[in-house]
Amino acid sequence: MENYKMYINGEWISGKKENSIKVYNPATGELIAYVPNGGEKETKEAITAAYEALPRWADLPANVRSNYLKKVYQLMIERQEEIAQLMTFEQGKPLKEALGEVFYAAGFVDWYAEEAKRIYGETIPAWSPNKRILAIKQPVGVVAAITPWNFPAAMITRKIAPALAAGCTVVLKPASQTPLTAIKLCQLFEEAGIPKGVVNLVTGSAQVIGNTIMEDKRVRKVTFTGSTEVGKKLMEQSAKTVKNISLELGGHAPLIVFEDANLDKAVEEALASKLRNCGQTCIASNRFYVQESIKEEFIGKLKNRLKDFIVGDGMKEGVLIGPVIDKNSYDKIQQHIKDAIEQGAKLEFGGKSYHNGISQQGGYFVEPTLLSNVRKGMTVAKEETFGPVLPVISFKTEEEAIEMANDTDYGLAAYFFTESLSRSIRVAEKLEFGIIGVNDGRTSTPQAPFGGYKESGIGREGGHFGIEGFLEIKHISIEL
Ligand code: ADP
Repeated sequence: MENYKMYINGEWISGKKENSIKVYNPATGELIAYVPNGGEKETKEAITAAYEALPRWADLPANVRSNYLKKVYQLMIERQEEIAQLMTFEQGKPLKEALGEVFYAAGFVDWYAEEAKRIYGETIPAWSPNKRILAIKQPVGVVAAITPWNFPAAMITRKIAPALAAGCTVVLKPASQTPLTAIKLCQLFEEAGIPKGVVNLVTGSAQVIGNTIMEDKRVRKVTFTGSTEVGKKLMEQSAKTVKNISLELGGHAPLIVFEDANLDKAVEEALASKLRNCGQTCIASNRFYVQESIKEEFIGKLKNRLKDFIVGDGMKEGVLIGPVIDKNSYDKIQQHIKDAIEQGAKLEFGGKSYHNGISQQGGYFVEPTLLSNVRKGMTVAKEETFGPVLPVISFKTEEEAIEMANDTDYGLAAYFFTESLSRSIRVAEKLEFGIIGVNDGRTSTPQAPFGGYKESGIGREGGHFGIEGFLEIKHISIEL
């Protein structure tokens, strides 16, 4: 059993063994590692290291910061198998998907290695003949990145790569369920020669580390991906020191299938958007609105394809759906299915959940589950399930579908399927979501902006937009 360490000011720091955090393999329930239970002291040390490293890192020429990121990218590609295996081991996703995530994660490093060189300012025509106005962009300062367990690599690089490109230094707090991938990435940052203190990693109690970060004036930016509940708390806490904050929170994505859709394509994209990572993504389609005239046909086609989705240990060849992350998740999914059936939904496919043992001695698995006759009041139609459940609701008109889709406090992703060009534009413009997939269930890519409307978050990550959150704009006024 390996004892992993935290990375603070270029040193690998052990915690006390008795307080270590246990990491489990969600497919088997086996204890696979210990990571340190860092607290206030370690978090402050990490912030101090980042604060002291900041001026030198920010002053480096952009191409030098870019070259460090290019080296990290190369290392990630070289070590793709190793990183993917570690990810499957601690998170459960099928190995092939984990490998896909390594490329996705490395893509952000590649993109921001380039973006580092394009932090342009502006000269603005002054209204006074003897004045000159410049607007330059500078790093916001020390950044705290708090990341979730569902994408243990990509959620880290999507934050750290633009932060480093912008000239910021970082304190990273990964999810307690998946700290090993984060530790591996920090090893690669070190191997790439990134100076000490520029990236720091603390593991331990989210509450203690979170509070320490939020109270410290030296942390100027918090970038968080996780639940809406914790996001709201961080937003409140950020008021005390007026921290800059970016939030990627929960979603409740609608997926609308119009009668003029290519149904085979709609089925494939729906499955991709729903079943990736066992439905544990914030952009997973969570409610399927299907136009009445094609409902039976769509359900028939889905049922036919769901048979191919083998559930099991993500390390096994051929498995397409791994375990859910833990018992809480499993219980919530089961509760959603039970509630729907009790309220009159029809179980069309799946429905079984199983567990290999008791407590921490076995993984938690859920079969892909298709429900029809779902209605508005059911929990599956109101809340994010974060599991492989497909609830189908029928609709009659385009207006009705849009209204139902927008009837939520969330606004992250939405998908719809149609072969009509004018409907594509019309519906895309009316949906109140930050990401719209038109005949596309796989929207995530490093070049594009990712983020939500309403209570799904603040700010955008990815693409050239994603570096803006790590920059301040400074107005320099010169009188001649
Ligand atoms: P999820 O439901 O995806 O686990 P969470 O919001 O609970 O979402 O967790 C996302 C990240 O936020 C994790 O790294 C977690 O440890 C961290 N976290 C949880 N509670 C707090 C908190 N009170 N303050 C700061 N970070 C927190």
